[in-house]
Amino acid sequence: MDLNNSNDAVARRMTAMVDRISGMKKNDEYYYNMPVSELRGGSKVIVHGREMGMYASYSYLGLVGHPRINKAAQDAVARYGTGTHGVRTLAGTLVLHGELEDTISEFKQAEAAITYTSGYVTNLTVVSTLMSRGDYVFSDKLNHASIVDGCLMSGAKFRRFKHNDMDSLERMLESTPTDAAKLVVADAVFSMDGDIIDLPKMVALCQKYNAWLMMDEAHSLGVLGKTGRGIEEHFDMWGSVDIKMGTLSKTIPSVGGYVAGKKDLITYLRHASRAYIFSAALPPAQAAAAKEAFKVILDEPWRVEKLNANTQQFIGGLKARGFDTMLTETAIVPVLCGADETAYAVTRHAQKNNLFVLPVVSPAVPVGLARLRATVLASHEEKDIEYAMDVIAESGKEIGII
Ligand SMILES: *Cc1c(COP(=O)(O)O)cnc(C)c1O
Repeated sequence: MDLNNSNDAVARRMTAMVDRISGMKKNDEYYYNMPVSELRGGSKVIVHGREMGMYASYSYLGLVGHPRINKAAQDAVARYGTGTHGVRTLAGTLVLHGELEDTISEFKQAEAAITYTSGYVTNLTVVSTLMSRGDYVFSDKLNHASIVDGCLMSGAKFRRFKHNDMDSLERMLESTPTDAAKLVVADAVFSMDGDIIDLPKMVALCQKYNAWLMMDEAHSLGVLGKTGRGIEEHFDMWGSVDIKMGTLSKTIPSVGGYVAGKKDLITYLRHASRAYIFSAALPPAQAAAAKEAFKVILDEPWRVEKLNANTQQFIGGLKARGFDTMLTETAIVPVLCGADETAYAVTRHAQKNNLFVLPVVSPAVPVGLARLRATVLASHEEKDIEYAMDVIAESGKEIGII
């Protein structure tokens, strides 16, 4: 088919996207897919030959490139090679996978754990395996796309409550048949806003209305809690979350996703979730790297402390300079700009001054709430954070948002 001459719906959608992207490039608004050529510890990177301070990474504890983790991956390749023999259920399970799952369940203080090859696929398969037609799933309006997709795929009745609003959730639970199966699911730390879910109230509601509770810890693992164990440690509510989901691609410098929970839940997922049964096992290097990373977090507690100190410095410093950082309490720090154009202008200035930071604009966030979405890392130095804030403030002043 000649796409250039075709005018069907698919071709029209493609053309619209291609035009939008080239328009952004022309206006110097396109900062996506930037190729990094060197990591320099992760808090500084080389892009197009220039050293930039990294403020868009999810390697919150600065573990990318950690010698112990690299060594574990290299040893695993030497021992097992680079791939597996297919899916876990058949020939793909290595002793290493079991060790990784034991490490995760211990870290999360759960009975058992299961791993998948990405966080995205973990949410997709877990929600759609547990829930089906006739069931009800309640999802925060700002939940990650992978949760939304899992809910849609499940065929369950899909209810979205107002962001972190437990009254809104309760009204929905109240009006649901008492004998229906119910799942409440939310990000522990929200990926665009950096705020923390109200776990105590959510747990109380789940108990009152007999609902399962699932937490996505993509941005809370290694971030929340004194030892980085996440949302249950943060609120000192161990055992309150039924389905503890997380990814191995953010704080943990690997790839993959996991669920920790009760033994029966994990046995069920191991034999019923399609992404486990029909998709290849995690490669040895990634499994070994992930396993070692959980140990490093516990062996090097200064990393969580440093991340907390840097987070306070960054949020406090931006506020002192007059910025609105919304409700964040974590390493994800939105810097509110307002109009999309303003967010692009602040980004352009930051990028010109060697800050790797990205804007979030509509439709990803509501019109008028465009922002920089900056992340702070344990590996940032105090003076680097000051420099970054000064650069952001320069353009904030020039544009008149502070
Ligand atoms: C990144 C992310 C995921 C997906 O994890 P991947 O391992 O990158 O596929 C899921 N949920 C949330 C909240 C995330 O931020």
